[in-house]
Amino acid sequence: MTALEVDGLTVRHGDVLALDDVSLRLEEGTVCGLMGPNGSGKSTLFGAVMGLVRPERGTVGVLGTTSAAARRRAAVAYMPQAEAIDPDFPIVAHQVVLTGRYAGMGFTRRPRPADRAAVDVALDRVGLTGLADRQIGRLSGGQRKRVFLARAIAQDAPLLLLDEPFAGVDHGTQEEMTRVLRELSEAGCTVLVSTHDIAGVSRLCDRVALLAGRLLADGTPDEVLTPEVLGRVFGLRSAS
Ligand code: ADP
Ligand code: MG
Repeated sequence: MTALEVDGLTVRHGDVLALDDVSLRLEEGTVCGLMGPNGSGKSTLFGAVMGLVRPERGTVGVLGTTSAAARRRAAVAYMPQAEAIDPDFPIVAHQVVLTGRYAGMGFTRRPRPADRAAVDVALDRVGLTGLADRQIGRLSGGQRKRVFLARAIAQDAPLLLLDEPFAGVDHGTQEEMTRVLRELSEAGCTVLVSTHDIAGVSRLCDRVALLAGRLLADGTPDEVLTPEVLGRVFGLRSAS
């Protein structure tokens, strides 16, 4: 099944053409890296897939339905680039993870044993069990990213959208998150993840989509991240 189908997507922010006729199709179980320089439209693409940004043209299909319908049944887990939680807000790690279960909890938001269990499992998977009761503002940046990954895991969504989950994260944490994401994909989860880490993307992703307003390239990491592309798009020169 196709997990995500973006077709001819064009998005403007005022005068800025942020996405120009972008088409992307992810089959179930794919881990796709979204790369491109700052301002290339990566976050805009996530916003459009979530239905938070209105496109000028084009369509988004999520798991055979619209993004609004997929969101209503909590089928998409989204980790925004900037966390929506104020670090001073008095909420502890396991409570943040529990918010991933809200859609299934009804309007009373009273957690059932299954919700508590899902939170514990998710915290364990990201290695944060010992910090479950720590206030969110008293965690490191990398630990906070892991809390938000745990929230996405607890949501049990078939599609994960992660906008720069490795930004400000140490190497060990990145390796740990990579391992968890590979496991999720082996279980059938589809992942779209933006990152600037060229070496890390080859370990994590089956595919890379390279964005610069337009979609410049789309293929395996080896196909896309050629020395020519790295030089042209990122201004990097190979060591040789
Ligand atoms: P990336 O995530 O790749 O850094 P963005 O999607 O955040 O790129 O931004 C794409 C372009 O759209 C940039 O030129 C950015 O300045 C512009 N942009 C993004 N969001 C807004 C906004 N809310 N209002 C105006 N311009 C925006
Ligand atoms: Mg961004």
